[in-house]
Amino acid sequence: MSEKIKGGISVDRENIFPIIKKWLYSEKDIFLREIVSNATDAITKLKRLQSLGEATSEQDDFRIDVRLDRIAKTLSVEDNGIGMTADELQQYICSIALSGAVDFINKYESAEDNAKGGIIGHFGLGFYSAFMVSDRVEIETRSHTGAPAVHWVCSADGDYEMETGEREKIGTEVILHIDEDEAEYLDAARIRAMLDKYCAFMPIPIYFDDGEEKKEEEQSAPINDTSPLWQRPASECTDEDYKAFYTKVFNDYREPLFQIHINADYPLNFRGILYFPRITSQYESLEGQVKLYYNQVFVADNIKEVIPDYLLMLKGVLDCPELPLNVSRSYLQTNSYVAKVSAHIVKKVADKLISLSKNERERYEAVWNDIKTFVEFAAIRDKKFRDRIKDHLLLHLTDGSYKTIDEYLENAKATNENTIYYTTDKAAQAQYVSLFEARGIAVCEFDSLLDTQFAASEEAARSGVKFLRVDADLGALTGEEESDADKSLVDLFCEVSGNEKLNVKQQALTDSDVPVIISVSEESRRMDDMMKMYRMANGEEGAFSLPLDTTLILNSNAPLLKRLSVLLGEDSTRAKALAAHLYRLALLSHRKLNADEMSSFLNDSYRLLTDLL
Ligand code: ADP
Repeated sequence: MSEKIKGGISVDRENIFPIIKKWLYSEKDIFLREIVSNATDAITKLKRLQSLGEATSEQDDFRIDVRLDRIAKTLSVEDNGIGMTADELQQYICSIALSGAVDFINKYESAEDNAKGGIIGHFGLGFYSAFMVSDRVEIETRSHTGAPAVHWVCSADGDYEMETGEREKIGTEVILHIDEDEAEYLDAARIRAMLDKYCAFMPIPIYFDDGEEKKEEEQSAPINDTSPLWQRPASECTDEDYKAFYTKVFNDYREPLFQIHINADYPLNFRGILYFPRITSQYESLEGQVKLYYNQVFVADNIKEVIPDYLLMLKGVLDCPELPLNVSRSYLQTNSYVAKVSAHIVKKVADKLISLSKNERERYEAVWNDIKTFVEFAAIRDKKFRDRIKDHLLLHLTDGSYKTIDEYLENAKATNENTIYYTTDKAAQAQYVSLFEARGIAVCEFDSLLDTQFAASEEAARSGVKFLRVDADLGALTGEEESDADKSLVDLFCEVSGNEKLNVKQQALTDSDVPVIISVSEESRRMDDMMKMYRMANGEEGAFSLPLDTTLILNSNAPLLKRLSVLLGEDSTRAKALAAHLYRLALLSHRKLNADEMSSFLNDSYRLLTDLL
């Protein structure tokens, strides 16, 4: 090139530059990823030519250097890859296929899903993202072909100049003259964080020179890990490797519970590691973090279109080289490849759980409380997943043991066929739980709302199976309702309860110590729970009412009631006071008392104690 060439970026440049600025606004940081991944590609291309014997260069110390110069206000990215000739630069950089992109932009300008850089990259505009932060961009490049070096400089309005350059080494340096308004990109910590985010696993060593004096070992250490664990065969990775990788990537010093290393070959062709994190507190956010990579280049976190939302409770990395680096969300939603990837991941997760349950039951039980939320949520959300693992869904029993639903039902055949009893509060429902335990009927512990929703979804999936809370149906503990019930006792309790809607029944409970006990039909209570949640969501109180279908069972086996019946004939006032007190005791073992109930309860107690003296 004997003279300077001047020109303007060809297609509709007056449209494209403002659009680049506007459209990529929300994720400006990606410019660094684009420039560094171009450098990676340039090196990969040269390596490929070398391996085909088609390259003249014998270069093998491949590296990318990112340099920050705060005085010159530049950020540069240099590679020793394939380089460009003047013609190539003209072709690839100056007159790239913008027309397609411009049409696309015109058509979809309002489409929200492109706002996050959906077009850039898709149309080979990656390089131009540099103009989001620069007022001028320079390229110094020398092609591996032996052609003369080229120097190119382009202003933010698209006017460029190209001339013979002075670069001696094969490769390319892209120099961004950072815009005054974008001074944050001259901050070393900011650039370092961006490199860590986007480039931590790129396949070529990247060195960052922040312009400060550095110790020698710092200078010689690349910022990235060029062969991340997911690229290695699972058979070569140790538990220690997985843990160390987890700590590094997620900055989480708690050990994960276990992981799944996925290596899907053709045609899916993706790799990844998914970790089940340890959840230490119930109040911790359940949102995990699944990072999506494209050939070791970070693309985004938690892409719901690629992984079902319930899998987002996991933490992990997925590398999908079949997905274009920048694709729009609507593209992902309708893409059949994405659907297959997602299905494959779900299957792998289910397989892992099944294998733990079958081969390492003790370990499976030990981690169950940590993974339960995930598994139950997934089982509710995804029928396919649920069907796969249905034989491995565990119930945590009040005696501390774990049983699969089928094991529970098998053991329950003689006493409570097809019925699973549960408690939602072991302490508050202790009376009921102990009645069941005394009968040898296992009770499982639910400790979250999700458990109850899960139970409902299992009922729907297993015909004939019911989940009943321990206070819902005392049928397994009582005999038939007694036809020769002591009507005067029944009336007495109806009266003292002050609740016309309360059913009062006399039945023989196996346990003679309990004189009266409340039961609320499962259906009615579930409805009531929903109403309460609704009221609470609206800031209303009212958690103390009894649901519609509530029954007070008078235990005809209890000596106390027999004596009360006698007392009723002798001193009805005293009998009434005793019955009221018993009713409140029954309430107390069923739920919290409201303020009025509590004060009458205490007053009655004091009076009764005084009588005893
Ligand atoms: P894409 O990378 O998606 O093709 P870009 O706009 O980022 O789009 O780059 C356009 C082209 O410019 C690349 O395909 C490549 O041929 C060339 N190029 C960009 N950066 C470099 C580089 N550092 N070394 C060699 N060629 C490069």
